[in-house]
Amino acid sequence: MNYEEFGKLKCEELLKVQNIFRENFKIDSYANWFYDSETELLRLYNDDEDEIFFRYIPVGTFSLKSRTWMWSWFNESSIEKSKTELLVVKEFGNENNYEKLKEGTFASDEYDGWELASICLDFLNGIGVYKVDTDNLEKYMLIMGIENHDSPKVRKLKQKVVECGKHGHSRPAFVCDHLDLETPKGFEEAFDTYKGMELEEEDDFQAWCNECEKIRLEHDGWNEESEKFAQIQLICEDCYFELKEFNQIK
Ligand SMILES: [Zn+2]
Ligand SMILES: [Zn+2]
Repeated sequence: MNYEEFGKLKCEELLKVQNIFRENFKIDSYANWFYDSETELLRLYNDDEDEIFFRYIPVGTFSLKSRTWMWSWFNESSIEKSKTELLVVKEFGNENNYEKLKEGTFASDEYDGWELASICLDFLNGIGVYKVDTDNLEKYMLIMGIENHDSPKVRKLKQKVVECGKHGHSRPAFVCDHLDLETPKGFEEAFDTYKGMELEEEDDFQAWCNECEKIRLEHDGWNEESEKFAQIQLICEDCYFELKEFNQIK
């Protein structure tokens, strides 16, 4: 069988599995997603009462910018330990000389992701595939099973996040006290951000208003006085991006 036929067959199989997956777990009923590469958990949620956790294996990412696919096993910034399980698929690619299974990265389109995920699903007995979209990347995850709400992993995940009255558990973010959803006040950031992006261990989402930026520049950066003016507050990631959307002066 050539790769095209093989891929097509696996996609057809995925379609069946995927329908059951979406139906059984009401996947489309969740408005928000959040994943944690360290615990290798995907959380789908509406709020803290209405949430579900899955164990996942990262399959790979499709970059909308460079139009390339990259397997997680090839991607150094993919820290999930489970990614090595995909090497059986690579091995299979080597044996059958299927380029897309053995090359770490290659020029691609939106369809490859589903096809490659469908092949992994078959090899590793996944229960479904989930794709998260961020600004420039589509990340494909092979869903391996459901994780109990009170498992040690879920508890660990929840320790890393803040609890927000509006959004439930989400990653922490920091903003000055002046930003609100009433009057746009500018949105200066420590670094460019987009929702759901991976953060380095030492990085946090941080933003402040134009007025704070003025004071910060007057003081050559953050010091006691400029920080006193900013009154930095801890909020959740979802709140952060609501503020960003509203306050950004384009
Ligand atoms: Zn401010
Ligand atoms: Zn929030």
